[in-house]
Amino acid sequence: MGTIAAISTPRAQGGISVIRISGEGALAVADKIFTGRKPSAMDGYTCAYGYIAVDGDKIDDVILTVFRAPHSYTGEDVVEISCHGGIYVSERILSLVFSNGAVPARAGEFTERAFLNGKIGLTEAEAVMDVISAQGRAHLRRAGNVKNGSMHRLISGYSERLVKLLGNISAWIDYPEEDIEGLSDDEIRSELEDIRRGLKKLSDSYENSRIIKNGIDTVIAGKPNVGKSTLMNAMSGCERSIVTSQAGTTRDIIEESVRVGDIVLRLSDTAGIRSSEDIVEQAGIDRAVKKMGNADLIIAVFDNSSELDDEDRRIIELCADAQGKKIACVNKSDEENVLDTGQLTGFDGIVNISAANHDISSLESLLCDMFIGEDTADEVLVNERQKQCLDKALSLVGEAETAVGSVTLDAVNIVLDEALDALLELDGERVSDKVVSEVFSHFCVGK
Ligand code: GDP
Repeated sequence: MGTIAAISTPRAQGGISVIRISGEGALAVADKIFTGRKPSAMDGYTCAYGYIAVDGDKIDDVILTVFRAPHSYTGEDVVEISCHGGIYVSERILSLVFSNGAVPARAGEFTERAFLNGKIGLTEAEAVMDVISAQGRAHLRRAGNVKNGSMHRLISGYSERLVKLLGNISAWIDYPEEDIEGLSDDEIRSELEDIRRGLKKLSDSYENSRIIKNGIDTVIAGKPNVGKSTLMNAMSGCERSIVTSQAGTTRDIIEESVRVGDIVLRLSDTAGIRSSEDIVEQAGIDRAVKKMGNADLIIAVFDNSSELDDEDRRIIELCADAQGKKIACVNKSDEENVLDTGQLTGFDGIVNISAANHDISSLESLLCDMFIGEDTADEVLVNERQKQCLDKALSLVGEAETAVGSVTLDAVNIVLDEALDALLELDGERVSDKVVSEVFSHFCVGK
């Protein structure tokens, strides 16, 4: 593997920029352009101050850090040059690095090398991108755990149990005359059931983890004038929807992402749901009804200061048909209570708020309880690739479990072998080059 280099910080002006060089020739390249101590004479984990210079022309004063193989991010010799954070200066240094022997790093190539050099497993490498793209604390915490190897350890545990089972069954099949004490059908079945339950739990957690990662697709619904736009503005902290006291002003779906505590909501403030003579408004209403059916979450807003009417009842009906979670949000709690909240049935939770006064803390805590709650899972699937591998293993283990007793153990072993393959692919231990390239192609250059 050659020596690669890239600017690892964003292409923008800032305090510092970091140019990363990795590979056998990293120290030799640095020796040629750095005027301070000789990088090749420096210990790992040490840094030095000096100039990057070409033909006596000083380009910038920098801090140069040396990491010695295998104790570096990539597992190779790595040099990191922290220069002033200008686009021109960092690109000038990078081109000097190239003209002295390094080649441009592909997207994700530093992390790919870390994987190929056995520094991290594939699930850990994939989580690196999740850490970078995390927008909320819950997402960051989960991605951080996976990056630190929690998934790798869990999957390796299941793989080892399958290997043990496979070995045990094979020995018993291959050497019947040796009087090897084989496992009974019940013992095999019970071990497989235990593995299947564990894999199922992990698979089920994906939906929640996907929601936390991508943001919760949320619809704010309610008849006109209950305060939907005001609520959306209170959550996003800016005046995006047009708020007026005349019914039916919010005509179309406005989308926006907001962070509520630890989680991110992708909000849609929909047209008030009622029948309308206005064709344009009716089209907006139809879109809103459709969106409600598919959303992860509906926040249905009702007016505390007036009685429930047919339009409110229609919202309750639509919520009942929707597949996501539903919260009844009784707004205008600053006004005298007229609404009978006992009629708000079929919701996963009911809260009182005053959107106009930005008093929405009860809604925020309910959201956190609902989507994060006690869930402090260390191991989560961070992407669709992992989910597919896991589901394949899960269904094969289930298949083997039902087959025990009705087919030969040889046949059971073939299915278990495939299940093991799927787990090893998940973890990157037995994965094709094509999959590896695909995984790292989603990374940014310099990572
Ligand atoms: P939408 O049609 O459901 O989007 O309702 P808007 O957000 O446009 O609000 C309709 C009216 O209700 C506006 O005059 C708001 O100022 C008022 N409003 C919204 N939230 C509250 C609240 O918490 N308390 C009171 N008293 N008025 C509110």
